[in-house]
Amino acid sequence: MPNARRGPHDLFAWAQSQRGRIAERGWIAALVLGPLAAVTWLVSLPPAPVAVPTAPPVRVAVRVTPSDATHLALAEALALDVWSENFGPGSPIDLVVHDGDLPRLEAAGLQPEILVPDIDAVARDEAARIAQAEIHRPADWYGEFRDFTAITARLEDLAARYPERVSMSAIGGSIEGRPLWALRIGGTAPDATPMLVNGAQHAREWIAAMVTTCVADRLVREYDDNPAIRDFVDHTELWVVPVVNPDGYQYSWSSDRYWRKNRRGGHGVDLNRNFAVAFGGAGSSSAKRSEIYRGEYAFSEPESQAIRDLVRRESIALHVDFHSYGQLVLYPWNYTAAPAKHRDRFAALGDRIASAIFAEHGTGYTLKAGAQLYAAAGTLSDWMYGEAGATSFTIELRPKGGSGFVLPPEQIRPTCDEGLAAVLALGSATPSD
Ligand SMILES: [Zn+2]
Repeated sequence: MPNARRGPHDLFAWAQSQRGRIAERGWIAALVLGPLAAVTWLVSLPPAPVAVPTAPPVRVAVRVTPSDATHLALAEALALDVWSENFGPGSPIDLVVHDGDLPRLEAAGLQPEILVPDIDAVARDEAARIAQAEIHRPADWYGEFRDFTAITARLEDLAARYPERVSMSAIGGSIEGRPLWALRIGGTAPDATPMLVNGAQHAREWIAAMVTTCVADRLVREYDDNPAIRDFVDHTELWVVPVVNPDGYQYSWSSDRYWRKNRRGGHGVDLNRNFAVAFGGAGSSSAKRSEIYRGEYAFSEPESQAIRDLVRRESIALHVDFHSYGQLVLYPWNYTAAPAKHRDRFAALGDRIASAIFAEHGTGYTLKAGAQLYAAAGTLSDWMYGEAGATSFTIELRPKGGSGFVLPPEQIRPTCDEGLAAVLALGSATPSD
């Protein structure tokens, strides 16, 4: 089970405060006693131990492949955080560990492959780059990652420019009172299929918020020039919710780049474990500090409630839940290795989706049933399929491994191409597929 993360910032801040307090005492003594008395006082003191600042531990992202349950348990015990959504004995798992724990992984024969040598340095570099972009403003809105305020403004602008094609509404609100924005696009044909595309259930998966926004943007703006898009938009009543978890998303911008859950009670709930199919099962946790804490009960969170209510009200039939990372196309079940009743249809459609993605930039996305790797109970996708009867896919976007959640901004556009291709491919599915 992943532990709650401990940042090196905590230790660093403590060391700084101690140094500050020592300096403060010296000043007070000097002011009160006068220079001579202060010197006498200092000389008379036994030599103070020299405070050697200890370097804060570095947090490293590694990939290991535990061969059995014992190795997996060791890896998880050392993990400050688990980045892999899907893993199990014999398959790779991406973890964050302190650099000091690398020898223990090596000694156990786990041969850690370093993905990111210092995840906090990477986050700082990203923040510095984004701050620069605020000043220089790239011409392309998708040339840089955007926070919730900027995404909201982008959606508002789209709805204002193309009112004949798109409308914007809040389908609910977050714990901290942020709106869960949804765009409703197209659907003029009487037989239009209701479809939902959402992103950023998990806060740190910024590319999922960008791709979902970008997909909506392109469907609306390229309608007149692209026959495939026009056909899709006319025959699909599409609901797009770019940021399902706005509180967590904003927190990942302001305070902790690697935050995953919503902000319930400060500890957070993993929204993608809070849905009612197999709630409480394997691959979810009852521990509040866990990254996969499922919440007190199914639909305990306003964000998962809002999605549930939208899906029921609109009788959603097709669904894509965008996440990152791993380049995977996943279909139910996620909670059990037992094959879904419609497994063959899922596999055929998933193959079509992965092929459409590959055709964009030659990027390989691997097709799997979610639980082929490791069970995750209480997911949105399983609920969409099991309760709402929708054809639902979870797509883990770029990268495959590498930099994890921090993706170079040059990859936003090509990843958007892949997301759009996936949505169009699923949209072309007929009930007989
Ligand atoms: Zn995710």
